[in-house]
Amino acid sequence: MAKKENILIIGAGLCGSLLALRLGQLGYAVRVMEMRPDLRKVDISAGRSINLALSDRGIKAMRLVGIQDKVEPLCIPMNGRMIHDKEGNTFLSNYSGRSYEYINSISRGDLTALLMDEAELLESVTIEFNKNCKKVDFENNTATFKDYKTQEEIKIKADVIFGADGAGSALRKSYYLEKKFLFSFSQNYLTHGYKELSILPSEKGGFKTYKNALHIWPRGNFMLIALPNLDGSFTVTLFLSYDEGQYNFNNLKNPDIVTEFFQKEFPDALELMPNLVDDFFENPTSPLGTVKCSPWHYKGNTLLVGDAAHAIVPFYGQGMNASFEDVVEFDKVLKSHKGNWEETFKTYEKSRRKDTDAIADLAIDNFFEMRDHVANPIFQGKRKLEMAFEQTFPNEYSSKYSMVTFNEDIGYHEAMTRGRAQDKAILNMIADNDIWTARDSYWEDMTKEELKETLKKVIIETEKILEEDRLAKTMHQ
Ligand SMILES: Cc1cc2nc3c(=O)[nH]c(=O)nc-3n(C[C@H](O)[C@H](O)[C@H](O)COP(=O)(O)OP(=O)(O)OC[C@H]3O[C@@H](n4cnc5c(N)ncnc54)[C@H](O)[C@@H]3O)c2cc1C
Repeated sequence: MAKKENILIIGAGLCGSLLALRLGQLGYAVRVMEMRPDLRKVDISAGRSINLALSDRGIKAMRLVGIQDKVEPLCIPMNGRMIHDKEGNTFLSNYSGRSYEYINSISRGDLTALLMDEAELLESVTIEFNKNCKKVDFENNTATFKDYKTQEEIKIKADVIFGADGAGSALRKSYYLEKKFLFSFSQNYLTHGYKELSILPSEKGGFKTYKNALHIWPRGNFMLIALPNLDGSFTVTLFLSYDEGQYNFNNLKNPDIVTEFFQKEFPDALELMPNLVDDFFENPTSPLGTVKCSPWHYKGNTLLVGDAAHAIVPFYGQGMNASFEDVVEFDKVLKSHKGNWEETFKTYEKSRRKDTDAIADLAIDNFFEMRDHVANPIFQGKRKLEMAFEQTFPNEYSSKYSMVTFNEDIGYHEAMTRGRAQDKAILNMIADNDIWTARDSYWEDMTKEELKETLKKVIIETEKILEEDRLAKTMHQ
């Protein structure tokens, strides 16, 4: 049980920087090696999306390292989804019936810079840039880097190596290519990719559309979303198939067809985006995928964390939150294992995997929900009912979305299991006309007693479904 103290972290992204900060706070000597230049000094994009939705699981991690007060000023609260139809009509659907539950738009660059600044305040943490990890000898705890500035090859030995190097992880590649143990790996791409665009601030520097919402233009097989930035702009993301449908990334090849597509599908967005064509042809189109692999660790030598272990599609806004939660969960296990890294890694992976698998599946479900179901009247009716439950009986009901996004003390797996059962219960009851005597009469017409009766029915039906699921599971074991 020798205590290993020299830690090497590959990647100073969101997860690697947070992990460095936490391990530094716990007294470990931490060296972080990042492939890209220092984003605090060089004007580069922080990679992937420009801004992200930060919610309660991520905020819990900020509390763990004591920087929630510094994160708050970087956040723009988004209380709900602002849905835009083709005619430009808008409809705000709150994320929760509890007014204190909302998600936050935050700049990836600002948050990463803050985490790096905080980590570097600790004497025991150093971060080096322009060092690209080529491979990891996980038997001998040595990682090989290429220094982009000097072109030198550097070998670094550490007691423990963490791969926080994102969806294309070099540590994960070494596990896979070396074939020294049974390593399972899957990567599933969606047929859709994404492209980032922008709504610039108004001439006076204000927001051109409603600031405190995540805007969505759902169009069935594709969609546009927009999240606000502190400077008054919005980062807009188009999710579209590469090759299916009348308009797709493969055939949007000239300014006229791009403008025609937006005129037809997103006319109100186009009005706010005179810069559309420039953005469209300057910015890359990138793929979206889910990565699952196991095991995440090799003996007590190396461990994958964050997207390197479990990259997911962005439709629940949970990839970063889950990666931050990795650090919270790892921290818990680390305390109780007192220096036995192999046991620590094993215990961590055993308890964590079911939750990261669950959020991967939920994120795929939400792809369909956001681009399609949010515009569906039955779905909207269900959301309104859930909102009424949350508003009127805040301690008795949480929707699946609320459990995933705002209940940081229950795991993703539990949130998924209970949330899916609730969804099924409500949708079955709507289909059977069991909830409303008349189909069109929504919860607005109900008295508090009637709403309470409906909630009771939903809870009983949910418990029935959960019991059936438990039975089916035991029969398959
Ligand atoms: C379009 C889009 C929108 C998203 N929106 C959200 C959202 O709203 N909310 C949310 O919670 N999540 C969101 N995510 C997911 C989120 O971006 C990731 O889950 C998160 O970035 C994972 O953090 P990470 O540190 O594990 O990986 P990364 O952020 O990818 O960081 C990895 C770091 O390692 C470095 N690196 C990579 N390879 C090497 C190497 N060989 N050597 C050295 N360094 C290396 C990289 O340069 C990078 O700095 C979104 C993702 C996408 C693509």
